[in-house]
Amino acid sequence: MSTVRAPLLLHGAAGIGLWDALRQRAADALCESPDASGRACGHCAACRLLSAGTHPDRFALLPEALAVDLGEAEPAERGASPPSRDISIDAVRRLVAWSHATSHRGRARVALVYPVDAMAAPAANALLKTLEEPPPSLYFYMGTHRLDHVLPTLRSRALLQAMGRPEAAAALAALRQRDCADPEAVAAWCRNAVHAAQPEAGLDWALDMLAWLDGQGARQALVAAAPPPAVAVVALQKITVDAMRARHGLAPLYLPRHAARLRRLAAAVEPMDWLQRWQRLARAAAETHVALHAGLSAERWVLEFDHIHLPSEV
Ligand SMILES: [Zn+2]
Repeated sequence: MSTVRAPLLLHGAAGIGLWDALRQRAADALCESPDASGRACGHCAACRLLSAGTHPDRFALLPEALAVDLGEAEPAERGASPPSRDISIDAVRRLVAWSHATSHRGRARVALVYPVDAMAAPAANALLKTLEEPPPSLYFYMGTHRLDHVLPTLRSRALLQAMGRPEAAAALAALRQRDCADPEAVAAWCRNAVHAAQPEAGLDWALDMLAWLDGQGARQALVAAAPPPAVAVVALQKITVDAMRARHGLAPLYLPRHAARLRRLAAAVEPMDWLQRWQRLARAAAETHVALHAGLSAERWVLEFDHIHLPSEV
């Protein structure tokens, strides 16, 4: 078992399996018969309690909505107020109270906090003292996909560790296991971040968009079929990045099978125009992260691309 006592803050892109990695670390720390490399055995009493979700020495601090999505909490009753997307100060206080109890099984105790950027300043402040001086044998494993959104006071108390994207082979295997129809295309589209809820989100629409820009299909159909704004904006950003790459003679990252089409589009617009479009999309993506209704409509963005649109004779 690790002797590092500083709270660990694991960070990396969304969809790379960060929550699974935190859960695995908790399992490794709590297992009562780990293997030689320190991995949880999966069948001791502690591992069985963990898989039943009833281990008393593990505490998961998550936003309510995420806890339900990740199977860490039961969905709220019908008619209850919608689950929160933030980690509340009350939830932090419950963790702090729990942290002072003694271990039920006489071993390590683990607090998981994910994502730490879901704590507003008051909630984070309520956690600082416990992070600074955790009770004996308490481990903090925290995670974030947005390290730049983590409060400096919290960040400075943690040991930062970056988590990379899955390797291509592992990403393809994970997609095949989920019966993905076109694992290669999806792995490229999400750049191997296959543990996202929907790694393929926006791909079909992006292909329609690309076809329309290349003179096939109708704009109205594209607008009507647009995914939610947050997905649409990211899809358009990916097309833009690939077009900018094509302009510089580089292979596409997200749409590797469509290099020829991307090269035709890339040539239709000045490089600076592509860059400015990308910047507008990045700003819109930051807004939609906070509020999905951030005044963004697919129509506005499709129009934004309208003058790139190649005539159908091409
Ligand atoms: Zn075990």
